[in-house]
Amino acid sequence: MQQWGDTVTIADIIKANSVIRQYVKKTPLIRAEKLEKLFGGAEVYLKLENLQYTGSFKVRGVVNKMLSLSKDELARGVTAASSGNHAQAVAYIASIMGAKAIIVMPENAPATKVDGTKGYGAQVVSFGFTGEDRELKCNELVMGYGYTLIHSHADPRIIAGHGTVVTEAAEQLLSYGYDCFDEIVIPCGAGSLTSGASLASKNLMPAACVTAVEPAAVPRITKSLEDGGPVTVSMGQTIADGLRVGKTEPIIFELIRDNVDVVLTIGEQPILDAVREVLLRGKVVAEPSGCVGIAAALDGQIDMSAGRRVCFVITGGNMDSEMIHKALDG
Ligand SMILES: *Cc1c(COP(=O)(O)O)cnc(C)c1O
Repeated sequence: MQQWGDTVTIADIIKANSVIRQYVKKTPLIRAEKLEKLFGGAEVYLKLENLQYTGSFKVRGVVNKMLSLSKDELARGVTAASSGNHAQAVAYIASIMGAKAIIVMPENAPATKVDGTKGYGAQVVSFGFTGEDRELKCNELVMGYGYTLIHSHADPRIIAGHGTVVTEAAEQLLSYGYDCFDEIVIPCGAGSLTSGASLASKNLMPAACVTAVEPAAVPRITKSLEDGGPVTVSMGQTIADGLRVGKTEPIIFELIRDNVDVVLTIGEQPILDAVREVLLRGKVVAEPSGCVGIAAALDGQIDMSAGRRVCFVITGGNMDSEMIHKALDG
């Protein structure tokens, strides 16, 4: 098994922020006045990673990781296990760098996601149904063909790359005349974004409260913090498909424990309501995983009173028309 380095520092994130520049978009930080009408007077800022290349923030960590590979490793090719946005990010960055990508996806993966991944030129191997199935298959490909595994979350370079969402947002906030949010709200699945983003926030905007939101159906970080160590939870059903991860990695647990102030869980109905409000009022196409922060605010779990500046990271926008219909129907 591959060994991960032990941790991530703010210097790693700042370095990532400069090396990934030519490969990622500086996504807009907007103020969403129409959404503010739903709340108690707080200013609502959205960091729009749904507009990032491939439709999610995932390219940030992936390119930071792939830039660290040797020429030899790139020539042999990369592999990744993913059912969703990580697959598309690896496929896209590999194509830009001229590397072969072999992505292991579940046999029941939606055609849109398989087609999206193939569309960036990757080879898709359909295998099994669970995350463990896919990881086993990936390891087999690594051993058999010498591919390099691009792990979706348990890798310091992935975490540092994802942290650039916040270095960028902190810089963009200056153009609104402020140097700190009162609160930054981050959707949390496996927790690699939360790890990097919270570390960046604590260093660049120490006064901001860092809040992570996970689905009540998969309360992995909540349970891990209660237990005082990384736990694995059974996987409930949630429409936030990017947040369905059962296992907590130690490196992620430690970063979240040290840098996140509040962890919230959110039910399914508020997530669906949030997708609709973000779409109709915010004019932003955001997938359910990207809307759990707004959902927590709609659910009354975040202080949205007047005078506060709250930033929501909108992590992605990849959803099919069926999901949009479902959200509009409420
Ligand atoms: C991957 C993903 C997340 C969760 O990121 P983690 O690092 O796994 O916590 C949230 N939203 C979207 C859209 C994603 O693709």
